[in-house]
Amino acid sequence: MHSTILWFRRDLRLDDNPAWNWALQRGLPIIPVYLHNPDEEKPWQRGAASNWWLHHALADLAGQLQELGLDLHIIPTSNSLHTLQQLITETNTSGIAWNRCYEPLSVTRDSAIKQSLTEQPIEVQSFNGSLLLDPLKLRNKAGKPFLVFTPFWKHSQSLDVDLPETTQGKPLHTKIQPQQTITLSQLQLLPQIPWADGFTQAWNPSRQGALKQLDQAVNKSEHYLSQRDLPSSDGTSRLSPYLHFGQISPREFHHHIHRHAPDPQKADTGILRQLYWREFSAHLLYHFPHSQNHALKKEYDLFPWEFDMTLLQAWQRGQTGFPIVDAGMRQLWHTGWMHNRVRMITASFLVKHLLQPWQEGARWFWETLVDADLANNSMGWQWIAGSGADASPYFRVFNPILQGSKFDPTGAYVKTWIPELAQVPANIIHTPWEAEPLELTAADVILGKTYPAPVISHQQGRVRALQAYSDFKTIRDL
Ligand code: FAD
Repeated sequence: MHSTILWFRRDLRLDDNPAWNWALQRGLPIIPVYLHNPDEEKPWQRGAASNWWLHHALADLAGQLQELGLDLHIIPTSNSLHTLQQLITETNTSGIAWNRCYEPLSVTRDSAIKQSLTEQPIEVQSFNGSLLLDPLKLRNKAGKPFLVFTPFWKHSQSLDVDLPETTQGKPLHTKIQPQQTITLSQLQLLPQIPWADGFTQAWNPSRQGALKQLDQAVNKSEHYLSQRDLPSSDGTSRLSPYLHFGQISPREFHHHIHRHAPDPQKADTGILRQLYWREFSAHLLYHFPHSQNHALKKEYDLFPWEFDMTLLQAWQRGQTGFPIVDAGMRQLWHTGWMHNRVRMITASFLVKHLLQPWQEGARWFWETLVDADLANNSMGWQWIAGSGADASPYFRVFNPILQGSKFDPTGAYVKTWIPELAQVPANIIHTPWEAEPLELTAADVILGKTYPAPVISHQQGRVRALQAYSDFKTIRDL
């Protein structure tokens, strides 16, 4: 009897999964596979924190398939096409399906795979299961890709978002076991160092966890615009890793919130508008593939960064002496996630105050974020560095003191992640170096010993950044 291969990738769910539905509708036994191919992801092989998430997401998916009587076959490979061809022969497959990924490397690889498999007598199908709108089909009035978010969003609002697909039918089983299958633990995705305890406390990386967060996001949509910038408040959905790994689809996110929000219009202009930033990033990376490694505005590749390993490490370890920056970097290390406002503050501090290349920051985020996503990460960093589309202008230097006072006025966020500063009063929490010695003693802080003195003064960093950007602009415009 023939069978259907379902190639799971970043669509680790069974609901609203077009490839899964197609496989069900074929009515033949289904062979679910996950190919582990880090070589094909180079130079953006999944980072350690994402690997932690992937391990649990695969375990969860395998459990859901098991309930339907199916095994998830995890297969290591360095050549997906070759492995799929072997599998097709071995399992007598007459059809194969997957949901598309839109990163440049995936597009190139999958197109080659599709072309090669189509030459064989089997059905090959790919679907969009990871974006609301297919980036191929989105163009501005001049027929070009969008470069500015607001027109992109407005145009998107004029298009219908498909409803999530309902799953129909039960899968048939087969006793065929592909020979190359290994166990999940053999993939060794979990960190080799004792690191992930904080991840385990912060997250439930399963489909059930995703649905719970989605339900909570419905209520959060009501006050999203006033809460989303306050890092000590749980005002955002925290659905980014679930969306990245496809444990929930953007269509499910969109429709569930739109349908159940107390005020759908508020949801549309608040939390759902934010989902279109994800679409915009995917759109940009798809149309400008060089932007994963290089400045989207190519001339910015010549920017004279001043690489300094000591400064980079102080930033990575949350030891810059600026409490809001250090709190963000420590939240990242402990939970694999950082609040969006603080991502902007920490990123600006690295590329502007410290003049470190945005790629170094993007690399560290890539390694430590459970939601690390090539499109969102590249766009986020380039937005801050001024080299991306619709980017923050080069003269915008986030002031970590004002940002801290405005968005963490009581210091609750800082105190959560920097216990050394727990006793510091709110009026000096974002400027401990300006405190009277007695105030610091009373708070048990010895600057430079229990908590670092600033690695650079805000004023000095700001002036140096503006000078560097303005010199660069002058040379560029000559
Ligand atoms: P919500 O506020 O609840 O938003 C809902 C969803 O919309 C998010 O889950 C996310 O998928 C999407 N979204 C929200 N804000 C953005 C944004 N600015 N850009 C793109 N999509 C957005 N996001 C990632 O998912 N992966 C990354 O690797 C990543 N790297 C970033 C790097 C930098 C320097 C910056 C400034 C931002 C980065 N972001 C990244 C975007 C954003 O910070 C996160 O998506 C957001 O914090 C996730 O939290 P949430 O799920 O609670 O978001």
